[in-house]
Amino acid sequence: MYLVIRCPRCGELVLANTIYKTRSCQNCKFRIEIRFIKPLARAETPADAVEVMKKLKAEQAGDKSWKPNFYRLR
Ligand SMILES: [Zn+2]
Repeated sequence: MYLVIRCPRCGELVLANTIYKTRSCQNCKFRIEIRFIKPLARAETPADAVEVMKKLKAEQAGDKSWKPNFYRLR
């Protein structure tokens, strides 16, 4: 399963595969421990995860008071 998580250091959206325990942020290189992070979204396939991430980024860009809504794909 794939998770869309937010980097606790810089706020960047990061795509994580649940087979791994940690994921490095592509923006600030912070190593995120996935089990401690509440995912913004979950997806079964990488393609779905990328779509959800695009949607979240678009929402974030369009709304300055954006907050995680814990949107779930399924
Ligand atoms: Zn980061």
